[in-house]
Order: sequence, then structure tokens, then C-alpha cells
Amino acid sequence: MKAFEATQYFFDQAAERLNLADSIREVLLMPKREVQVQVTIERDNGELATFVGFRVQHDNSRGPMKGGLRFHPEVNLDEVRSLASLMTWKTAVVDLPYGGAKGGIGVDPSTLSIRELERLTRAFVDQIHDIVGPDTDIPAPDMGTDFRVMGWFRNQWEKYHGFNPSVITGKPVEEYGAKGREEATGRGVGTLTVKLTKRMGLKPQETRVAIQGFGNVGSHASKFLAEAQFPIVAVSDMTGTYFNADGLDIHDMLRHSLTQPRGALSGYDRCEVLPVDALMTLDEIDVLIPAALGGVITTANADKISASVIIEAANGPILPLADKQLTDRGVIILPDILANAGGVTVSYFEWVQNRQHYRWTLDRVRQELDKTMNSAFEAVWELAQQQQVSLRTAAFMIAISRVRRAAELSGSIG
Ligand code: NAD
Repeated sequence: MKAFEATQYFFDQAAERLNLADSIREVLLMPKREVQVQVTIERDNGELATFVGFRVQHDNSRGPMKGGLRFHPEVNLDEVRSLASLMTWKTAVVDLPYGGAKGGIGVDPSTLSIRELERLTRAFVDQIHDIVGPDTDIPAPDMGTDFRVMGWFRNQWEKYHGFNPSVITGKPVEEYGAKGREEATGRGVGTLTVKLTKRMGLKPQETRVAIQGFGNVGSHASKFLAEAQFPIVAVSDMTGTYFNADGLDIHDMLRHSLTQPRGALSGYDRCEVLPVDALMTLDEIDVLIPAALGGVITTANADKISASVIIEAANGPILPLADKQLTDRGVIILPDILANAGGVTVSYFEWVQNRQHYRWTLDRVRQELDKTMNSAFEAVWELAQQQQVSLRTAAFMIAISRVRRAAELSGSIG
């Protein structure tokens, strides 16, 4: 199943409960605009290299569209379309005044030098600068992009349109970025993991956690949960699965990753090292947190997952049939559109600060983030109990109702 079909499947389950007419479903599902561009750069050795870039603008009923930029070899139009749609539902479920978009380039950034990466970012901006902007579509970091890429993006966009740092979020803190943006997605994942497990009567010290991915989201989530006394028994990244049945020393691993190219855990030997794909199906895990790629939990491995709670830190990690298998087994899944909304929430705070030329303290960012995540969680939890549906269906029901209402109020649907 393709990524967009999977998003549509989850959307349809909620649309069914909301008795949404087919014509309304179509309006809400289909992206407003899809752009595909050729991005050509000169490599350091003088040769030309060409890549394909995308920006999909899904919906703007609730405000300017918002969504990350992904640099990854598997980026394609179907995936970007699915991620853009997820952004619409994500911004709606946490009630930010935004719509949804997503973009990316099909490239493995680890094969580029830092100067090539900068040239690639600037060449992409040259292609799409006229369709993004502070009041239309505001990009942010995602897999394979970071604060430096955001800084180059802003600088190139301003060459065309003049000073306006609110065109993009996730910028360097010294250059109009927000304190707490980098940790925000992982912190949101951590906050809601603590909340959900507490509600299920699990004690932190006895709740064994496994986290796939040790990049931005996975590393910050690991740190937050380790500090909240959860034993993190396994984490994986592209280099392997790092395992200790008594709990890993996450701070030691974070220190190690800083010494490695691109923050990898490669060479970390103060625990057992297993193959990359071992993490998903480890025995005696209570909470599984996929925080790397989409589509990693399928019918091929769903039955072998021992966790009773899955927190979707990555976008779209569970495919629909696997989701059904797990839900039927009683596994509680906190869906991506809620679980990883911390990043876009602090991106919103960054945009607000930029527009007001004012800076918030880290404490204020964290307080406002926790407040937003907690109230979204409570609303989703309550609806799920009331309607006897999964947390995913409840989250989609809230999001779809908000987007539909905004589209009705603006007169774009009857
Ligand atoms: P990142 O590039 O910083 O890190 C990705 C991590 O996944 C790396 O540690 C990498 O080694 C690991 N990885 C890649 N393939 C793997 C595999 N097969 N097995 C195990 N590990 C593997 O990316 P990120 O920003 O942390 O994003 C991770 C996920 O979270 C993505 O799905 C992204 O869309 C989602 N997300 C990110 C943000 C954000 O603010 N960064 C916000 C919302 C959602």
C-alpha cells in the first residue's frame, strides 16, 4: 500500500464515523497544489547533479500551510502528498491556525558535502520561492534537514522577497529561531508517553521502552524519558540496535553520538549491539516508539511486536492492516498526528515570535508546548472513550471536524 492510500484509509475510518458525504471527503482529501521541480547543482568536482524536488500544499482552510522539508533518497510525490495531508490533520488536532503542506528532495544528504547541501537548498528555493511565504506556506525541518538548511532557505528566499524570517521555522536560535524548537518533537513525544502510560496504570521504573531512530526526535525523546525514570532498553539507528536489558545509559550514548559523523551511534560498545531490524520485535518491551521512517510496522512484523503501547513519533510508521492487527490485539497506539505535533507547535511559537519581533524564554516555550500537547491529548482521549474508537480515529475525527467547519465558514464548501 502506498503512503497516501494509508493516510486516506485512516481518514476514511473517521469520516465514516462523522457520516461525511463522499463529495466533502474528496474536497478535504485532495491537495490544493502539487509542484515538482528539477534541482540542479554543480558538485565540488565541477560535475552537474540533478535531483527532483517537491512541494505539496494540501489545505489552507485554517490558515497558512505548514510542513517540513525532507531530504531523503526515498522522497517521492506519493509520500510527500501523504505527509502534506497528515500536516493538515496534525495542525488541526492541536488547534494551530495553520493548514498542511510538505516538501522534499530525493537525495541522500550524506553523499553531499556541506557546500553542496547549501547549493542544493538554495537551488530548490530558486524553484519554489514564489509559492511559499509567511502567510501562504511556511516550511520547517524534517528528516535530513536541520537549522542550517533552514537558515540557507531563509537567506535565499529573502533575496527575492526582502527581510521576513517568519517564512520558515526551525532556524538557528541566533538567527530568529525559537529556543526549544530542536527538542520540541521529542519533548512532546516524551510528555504524552508519560501521560498515556500513567493513565494505563504503568509505573515509569517498570515500563521498558524501545526507540527506533536516534536522530532529532528519537534522541530527545530518549533523553526526556530516561530523565523521567523509564528504562530505555533499546535504541536503534542506521548503524544497529543498541540493547541493555537493564536500561541504556542515554546520556553516555548522546555524548558518544556527538563525536560521530551525523550523530550516529556507530562504535558505541558499552551495551549489546544487534542488527538494525532487531529492535521492532524484541521481547518484553512495554512501549515501542518508532521515531525514524514511515511504513516500518507491517503485517510481516506486527504479530511479533511485544509492546502494549506504541507511540508514533515518526510520521506514518504503521501501515493500515498492521494497525488493525495491533488494535484488535488491544495494543494502544498514540497516532502520529498527535504524538509528534510538538515540533509544529513550537514552529508556530517561532513564527509568532518572528512576527512580533519578540523572544520567549525557554521556560515559556516549554510551558506553552506542554499546555498545547496536554489539552489536545485530553480532547482525543475523551472522544475515544465516548465514541469507543481508537485514539487515531478520535484524533482524525477532531481534526476533520475542525477543517470542515473552517471550510464551511469561509464558504469554500457548502
Ligand atoms: P533525523 O534525520 O534527525 O533522524 C532519523 C533517525 O532515524 C536517524 O538516527 C537514522 O539513523 C535513523 N534511521 C534511519 N533509518 C533507520 C532504520 N532503518 N532503522 C533504524 N533507524 C533508522 O530525523 P527526525 O527529524 O528525527 O525525524 C524522524 C521521524 O520523525 C520522521 O518520520 C519525521 O517525519 C518525524 N517528525 C520529525 C519532526 C521534527 O521536528 N524533526 C516533527 C514531526 C515528525
